[in-house]
Amino acid sequence: MSTAIEFVEVGPRDGLQNEKALIPTGDKLALIERAIAYGVRRIEVTSFVNPKKVPQMADADTICAGLPDRDDVTYIGLVLNLRGAERALATGRIDELGAVCVASDRFAIANQGQTSAESVEAAKAIIALARQEGRRAQATIAASFVCPFEGEVAQDRVVAMARQLAEARPVEIALADTIGVGNPAHVTQLVNAVRDAVGDIPVRCHFHNTRGTGLANVWAAIGAGASVIDGALGGLGGCPFAPGAAGNVASEDVIYMLDRAGITTGLDLGRMIEASTWLGGVMGRTLPGMVAKAPSFPAQAQA
Ligand code: ZN
Repeated sequence: MSTAIEFVEVGPRDGLQNEKALIPTGDKLALIERAIAYGVRRIEVTSFVNPKKVPQMADADTICAGLPDRDDVTYIGLVLNLRGAERALATGRIDELGAVCVASDRFAIANQGQTSAESVEAAKAIIALARQEGRRAQATIAASFVCPFEGEVAQDRVVAMARQLAEARPVEIALADTIGVGNPAHVTQLVNAVRDAVGDIPVRCHFHNTRGTGLANVWAAIGAGASVIDGALGGLGGCPFAPGAAGNVASEDVIYMLDRAGITTGLDLGRMIEASTWLGGVMGRTLPGMVAKAPSFPAQAQA
């Protein structure tokens, strides 16, 4: 089992995209600043998608203009097609494109107006463009475990997609359990199969905690050799095009578990808990994450 894991904060994009009330750009930038302060060095800051379909991400360009100037932080912009990729690159502030392809046709069409095969071709074109422009690019296979419309997704299908994506040499391939149906045994199998198929390309995992299996899935993914894990502060999140999708695994819950298990991430749990409490104040409600609501452990020294 690996003793160090890279963590990607997806709160500013996946965490917020499904919120009905528009969140002020300043609050989103404050979330990004807090994520940097608690030690994250890769952050999914926004997506370059149709603002009519995802109004919460309509401020992508303003977000980019306000990003802290940090050479040591990689800012990720999620894109679904070449047009989005060009917009992201034109900001001059996005270090890494995150392409998304989908393992089932019905969800691919609902999410991004492409068939599954078209989404793989689009991701490969996005990766090629990023490479040409001297930027990083990675690809996520959404609905890697289950499709919200078609049900079970065949492992062979996901492995074949990963193999096709690997030809474009992304910096990483991610497996996403978009609607939080995965279980640890399935995660172990799929991560192993994809790692066998993609050689030296690192595998990232992205879990939603819709049915309470999020942390178990994170643990299984790391055990099977995934080297990068996504999470959203407070456990916010969901997908506007996947019925019933709920929050991402909470960043602070993931880091609590990994810290206690002796796996290094470089993140500061105390500052994450503070940030999660702050975010709950911004959202005006208690967030799903567990650790920020529990008494601090190990007990903090009393002042
Ligand atoms: Zn997600």
